[in-house]
Amino acid sequence: MGVVDRLDRPLRDLRVSVTDRCNFRCTYCMPREAFGADFAFLDREELLTFEEITRVVRAFARHGVRKVRLTGGEPLVRRDIERLVAMLAAVEGVDDIALTTNGSLLPRKAPALRAAGLGRVTVSLDSVDEQVFSSMADVDVPLARVLDGIEAAREAGFETIKLNAVVKRGVNDDGVVALARYAREGGLVARFIEYMDVGTTNGWRLDEVVPAVEVVRRIDAVFPLEPLDPNYTGEVATRYRYRDGGGEIGIVSSVTRPFCRTCTRARLSAIGELYTCLFAAGGRDLRGLLRGGAGDDELAAAIGGSWLGRVDRYSELRSAATAAVPRVEMSYIGG
Ligand code: SAM
Ligand code: SF4
Ligand code: SF4
Repeated sequence: MGVVDRLDRPLRDLRVSVTDRCNFRCTYCMPREAFGADFAFLDREELLTFEEITRVVRAFARHGVRKVRLTGGEPLVRRDIERLVAMLAAVEGVDDIALTTNGSLLPRKAPALRAAGLGRVTVSLDSVDEQVFSSMADVDVPLARVLDGIEAAREAGFETIKLNAVVKRGVNDDGVVALARYAREGGLVARFIEYMDVGTTNGWRLDEVVPAVEVVRRIDAVFPLEPLDPNYTGEVATRYRYRDGGGEIGIVSSVTRPFCRTCTRARLSAIGELYTCLFAAGGRDLRGLLRGGAGDDELAAAIGGSWLGRVDRYSELRSAATAAVPRVEMSYIGG
């Protein structure tokens, strides 16, 4: 048994941001105008060490966390990340370790990650068109490097590799069928994500959100789809399968059909703050406890206390009023 929040939601998943840095500048996440050469990223001493992260994860596991996802920023820019994977794989109670990455460093990292005990990989890929990819990622990395990264993950033995695509109106929405085709042919699960109003720097506008139903309609017109049941309660993506047996896709409709009611996710920022919602304005400082000499019970009590008081359901309440509230950036809190 684990702890449940005030809306009766258990604590099951933890997303751990291991760095706020990234080698990409995706326009919807870290726009170059805001994250330029003079941007003050966190200093190394401010980041939780791997030992500290492992202690925190162990405390979360006591409250029912079974699944840990490493994210960022770009998690693969954190040196020796495979060492952290191996440490987390040894935490009792945690049976699923996953990673979300932009894929550019996977060609050289995939085998070590697999050997360390990483279970699953999700690669973010918004387009299979070179120009669209480059303009969205706003970086000098060729699309081929990410595709090679996906191939490297496959060769390293990762089974279900997922792709995450953020769909933006007028930018990559006419490429969703091509992306679905690429994923189908490679046995990958493509997941299409509605562009969200995370942070305050991406200039989010509702008219740039492509509703999930529209993505389904476009793909269904070429590759007929049928709905699938969720794998488990709290699954973020709505699943569909191709009627011809060509695999499945997922749709993440955080804007048009929020799923706060079943949200079992907590987030740990790179400096050790616990966030109980992606849209929270602030988090509970766990690093202070860790570095102040708190014992494991004290740490676990702080985590349990935060979850017990949790009432977050931002996406359900999304409105002009809530949109004005300050929010933390996605690259900081971990997507
Ligand atoms: N750098 C890694 C990556 O891109 O996979 C991990 C961190 S990134 C913040 C995690 C996920 O958040 C990515 O799949 C990204 O596409 C998604 N994301 C970032 N900003 C978003 C936004 N405004 N709306 C929806 N998804 C977003
Ligand atoms: Fe970097 Fe991922 Fe954000 Fe893109 S989505 S800027 S790859 S952290
Ligand atoms: Fe969970 Fe917050 Fe997203 Fe709702 S808005 S699904 S509570 S992270």
